Amino acid sequence: MSDRPASATISLRHTGGCLCGAVRYVVTGHPINVRVCHCRRCQKATGSAFFARALFPKDAVTIEGNVAEVRSSADLLRRFCAQCGSQLFTERDSNPHAVAVTLGSLDEPDSFAPTEHIWISRKVAWLILADDLPQHPEMPT
Ligand SMILES: [Zn+2]
Repeated sequence: MSDRPASATISLRHTGGCLCGAVRYVVTGHPINVRVCHCRRCQKATGSAFFARALFPKDAVTIEGNVAEVRSSADLLRRFCAQCGSQLFTERDSNPHAVAVTLGSLDEPDSFAPTEHIWISRKVAWLILADDLPQHPEMPT
């Protein structure tokens, strides 16, 4: 039983999905971290200058729909809508109890602000970071 008002519970629930709507998901609770990755693999995989995602415990994420996947490095699985190709999730073999959700696929993409930048060594020159977030040259240990 909880004495918290219903609105507090609702605020910890976020929904998202792919471009075509074939895949939908719900995430609950607070992210473990929210990272923006500037590495070349993320640039290639997203077709963009960087990749932004929020990491959650795996049991906090519920997925419906047909999700395809590709292994982009030894440790990392990228999961996307099998129909429209929208990138939705990443998972690491080395962190099997967590799943990362792409910020852009959230129904409210401003729901989670980044907590740090990683792989700054590969950041495109035209992107000027005006925030005060930690910047890691590569993947932090
Ligand atoms: Zn889709």
